[in-house]
Amino acid sequence: MDYVGRIFRPPSEARSLLLQVSVGCSHNRCGYCDMYRDKRFTIKPWDVIERDIQEARALGPRFEKLFLCDGDALILPTKRLLQILEAVARELPWIQRVGVYGDTRSVGRKSVEELKALREAGLGIVYHGFESGDDEVLELIDKGGTRAECIATAEKLTAAGISHSVMILLGVGGEELSEQHARNTASLLTEMDPPYAGALTTTLVPGTPLFEAAQRGEFRLPGKFRMLQELRTIVAESNLTACRFSSNHASNYLPIKSELPRDKAEVVRILDAVIARGDEGLLKPEAFRGL
Ligand code: SF4
Repeated sequence: MDYVGRIFRPPSEARSLLLQVSVGCSHNRCGYCDMYRDKRFTIKPWDVIERDIQEARALGPRFEKLFLCDGDALILPTKRLLQILEAVARELPWIQRVGVYGDTRSVGRKSVEELKALREAGLGIVYHGFESGDDEVLELIDKGGTRAECIATAEKLTAAGISHSVMILLGVGGEELSEQHARNTASLLTEMDPPYAGALTTTLVPGTPLFEAAQRGEFRLPGKFRMLQELRTIVAESNLTACRFSSNHASNYLPIKSELPRDKAEVVRILDAVIARGDEGLLKPEAFRGL
């Protein structure tokens, strides 16, 4: 397979075939993210993608799911995405679901009819890291989308019948905006009502604007327990219909897997107990955390 640079995928796509159809991220500006800073955004030529699909075909039915890399491959023109999805369905008929990263920009550019066509061609799930429900925080991190656009994104995906998995980022508002970040993220989750949601924890990565702001003393990452308090607020204050909510990404201090609203009281009880004890021995050691 032709892989250019570091390849990222959501935790739940760990067993998926990774097909890189674009390189980098067309936005590449989020303040905390260094995933594609070394790459210039390009769409891979069709013959390279086609060769990869043929190579995957030669492997036989080893994978049930396929993930389209890189950062925001949903930004590709609908015509190209349909060409890819149709080739996957034809050449790899054992693939049951195709996933992709998308956001307010990539979903915003497509009509519901285009998204429906993508769903009919095999696109099953869009992973959307909206990070915060607070517009001040979204501006601070240069996310390139607003809270209202996140709601419109969820509505469009639902109307098109595409599943939606969202990621939120604990601590990304810093100490100063911590409480409003948590409360507005809870209320945005309620409005978007996604079937899947995952919490990640901010890590200051050298070379990113957020790291540099922290070096200058303009951004202070909340402490570990303060970030768990954010998680507690988000779980306690959101009202979700049926959501698989987890914090089992490598970056988190306390892994949680839950079904909300069913497990809400239990998750809040666990978080309250851990926060009250304030014992770092209960948390994942720094050395075991990852991005
Ligand atoms: S977080 Fe996502 S949208 Fe933002 S720069 Fe990184 S890959 Fe691009």
